[in-house]
Amino acid sequence: MSERNEAGAGRPVLLRGGTVLPMEGARTVLEDTDVLVTGDRIAEVGPGLSAPDDALVIDATGGIVLPGMIDTHRHMWQTALRGYGADWTLTQYFVWFYLEHGKLFRPQDVHAGNVLAAIEALDAGVTTVVDWSHGLRTVEHADAAVDALRSVPGRYVLAYGNIQQPPAEWTAAPEFRDFVRRRITGDDLLGFQLAFDVLGDPAFPEKAAFEVARELGVPVSTHAGVWGATSDDGIKLMHEHGFMTPETIYVHAASLSADSYHRIAATGGSVSVSTESEQSAGQGYPPTWALRAHGIPVSLSMDTSVWWSGDLFSAMRATLGADRSREHLEAHAKGETVTHAGLRADQVVEWATRGGARALGRDDLGVVAPGKKADLVLVKNDRSPVSFPVLNPFGHVAFQAQRGDVHTVLVNGRVVKHEHELVGVDLAAARRQVEDTVAYLRAEMGEEAWRQGMNPDIPETKILDNPYTYTDYRSDATHRL
Ligand SMILES: [Zn+2]
Repeated sequence: MSERNEAGAGRPVLLRGGTVLPMEGARTVLEDTDVLVTGDRIAEVGPGLSAPDDALVIDATGGIVLPGMIDTHRHMWQTALRGYGADWTLTQYFVWFYLEHGKLFRPQDVHAGNVLAAIEALDAGVTTVVDWSHGLRTVEHADAAVDALRSVPGRYVLAYGNIQQPPAEWTAAPEFRDFVRRRITGDDLLGFQLAFDVLGDPAFPEKAAFEVARELGVPVSTHAGVWGATSDDGIKLMHEHGFMTPETIYVHAASLSADSYHRIAATGGSVSVSTESEQSAGQGYPPTWALRAHGIPVSLSMDTSVWWSGDLFSAMRATLGADRSREHLEAHAKGETVTHAGLRADQVVEWATRGGARALGRDDLGVVAPGKKADLVLVKNDRSPVSFPVLNPFGHVAFQAQRGDVHTVLVNGRVVKHEHELVGVDLAAARRQVEDTVAYLRAEMGEEAWRQGMNPDIPETKILDNPYTYTDYRSDATHRL
């Protein structure tokens, strides 16, 4: 543990003179404002606060202070294969992880992925991650997942899942119950959910798993409205059996009918939108434009780093783009012009912070205000030409900033990143673990399968016949010489 970490762990912290986005009240911006943290809470927010003698004072001038960002759906175990599936579709992802090679992951491989994903999150200012952990084919895997989350100083929710067994089976296993008793102790830094999908079989075999969630008093997170996998049928079954509740998180919800959106809105649940995933993999068009129309609360997520990095700046940017793109497209189809954008930058910043907190039922997160948990991010990078001028702070966070601009991060009052350096994190050890996992998977799969997995065939495309003829003016000129 470094000196800096000890400095942040026990001592008060004063973020001095930043532009604070409290995320309370519409579009509020507090210029030249201090944030004082004592213990695990925000003590005061205001101008010219006096620092306690032992406080760590951080110069936030020229920077933006916002609540720690919250990712409500990330398959952290898959970070061990960062970027491997860059050219995949959802079908290829399913075949690789669900049917073929996902079964190769040992507990230490889940550990390796989780550790790297957790470190990556902190680095990018994501202070809470829901680990949608569906590779837990044994309880040893689940223990490894929790060990990993415990070893990195962020806030996590373990969403327990197992794609290799029907949910009714693994939730009924005595060792699963034992795991919950042993490892889920009500700690503020480690929440718990169940994670499984409802496939639409009219016999509703997932019912027993919902009953276990109800008995344990924990929320369910479910991939809903995923083209070719889950549909309106699953939503209908959940609704008719009374399992749609305010704490339910519907992931993607990208290919659902208006009827399903009405059922979600009426029962108070929220949707975790993974725009980059929906765009590349094909779950459906990123649905924020439809969710806004139905008044459904939104949070943001990255899904899996097997395609893209786990960075909510990127999610905010992609989500604004996809939503506006859809709005323009719908208008153009009717011969109309969008003159005022429906989705504003402050709204996506809200989804990335308070939206996640609401989805998790945590009104003590996602807000910069006295009494709230001190999960904070300072965006400031004096060496970057993109760091000024900051004219529109919400627009700056959503469209200008990126992970390299994350200067300081606090989780639960503890400094975990300071002056662009992670604190109390062993990146070299994480790298060694991931290298072991990659070497193991590669050897198990064999070199040919490994290479094929990363390089899917490209479908043939035909260039359309062109009625015009291309003429090179230079060859024309040469003729004249
Ligand atoms: Zn997912």
